[in-house]
Amino acid sequence: MTGAKLEIWKIAKRFQGIVAVDSISFVAEAGQVTGLIGPNGSGKTTTMNMITGLYPTDAGRITLDGAPLTGRDPHEVAAHGVARTFQNIRLLPEQSVLANVMLGTHLGHRQSILSVLARLPGVAREERDAKARCRVLLDELRIAHLADIPAGDLSYGDRRRVEIARALASRPRLLLLDEPAAGMNHAEKGRLGELIQQIRTSGITVLLIEHDIDLVSRVSDHIVCLNFGREIAEGTPAQVRASAAVIEAYLGRDEDA
Ligand code: ADP
Ligand code: MG
Repeated sequence: MTGAKLEIWKIAKRFQGIVAVDSISFVAEAGQVTGLIGPNGSGKTTTMNMITGLYPTDAGRITLDGAPLTGRDPHEVAAHGVARTFQNIRLLPEQSVLANVMLGTHLGHRQSILSVLARLPGVAREERDAKARCRVLLDELRIAHLADIPAGDLSYGDRRRVEIARALASRPRLLLLDEPAAGMNHAEKGRLGELIQQIRTSGITVLLIEHDIDLVSRVSDHIVCLNFGREIAEGTPAQVRASAAVIEAYLGRDEDA
C-alpha cells in the first residue's frame, strides 16, 4: 500500500457570512501522519469536508498526488483512494461489526447493479474475497473477536476502531480521521495511538484531527494548527507546541481545547 500526497492550496469556505475556513494551505506528505489541531470552531472539520467533497470549496485547490479533488463529489473522491471517519460515529448499530466493515469495501462497484441483483457467480466470489479481507483487517486491528456482535453493543472505543476498520477496508491512499479519540479513556487512547502508528507503517497517508495534544504529538510527523479558520502554526510537534500563537489560542479559549 502506498500513501498519496495531499496538497491544499488557499482553500476557503463561508457559511451565511461566517468565514469557517479562510485561505488555508498545507501539505500532508505521502506516508506520514499530519495532525490538524485548533480550538473548537477553528475550521478543522470543514477542511476535512472540503477534502472529501462533502462541501464544495469557495476558493482554492486540493490535489492528491497531483490529481485535482476540488469540484468532485464524495464518491469520486473516495474512488481516488480517500477514506474518512466522522466526528460523530456513523455505524449501522443493528448490523454486525463484520457487516459494517464490509460496507467499506465498495462491493458491487466493479459489478453492475443487475449482476448484483441476479447474484451471478462473480458477485459471490467477490463477496467471499471481501469478507475474507475484512476478517484479516479485523484481526490486524485486534477486534476479530467482535466480528459477529452488533456494532451498537460495542464500547465507545471499539466502535471508533470499527469505523477506522471500515475506512481501511476501502484500501485508501489517504485516511482522514476526525477526532478519533473523542470520548475515549486513557487505555483506549493508548491503543488508538498504536493503531495510527500501525496504519502509518503500512504506508497510508493520515490526516488526523485531534484535540488530545499529547496523542497528536506522539503520532504525528507534522502538525498544522488552525484558529478562526486560519493557519497559525505549522511544524514538528515540538515546534508547534512551543509556538506562542498556539499556546495563546489554546489558553485563550477554554478548557475543552
Ligand atoms: P472544528 O471542526 O474546528 O471544531 P468546524 O469546521 O466544524 O470547526 O466549524 C468551523 C465554523 O464553521 C464554525 O463556526 C461552525 O459553526 C461553522 N460551520 C461548520 N459547518 C457548518 C454548516 N454546515 N453550516 C453552517 N455553519 C457551519
Ligand atoms: Mg470538528
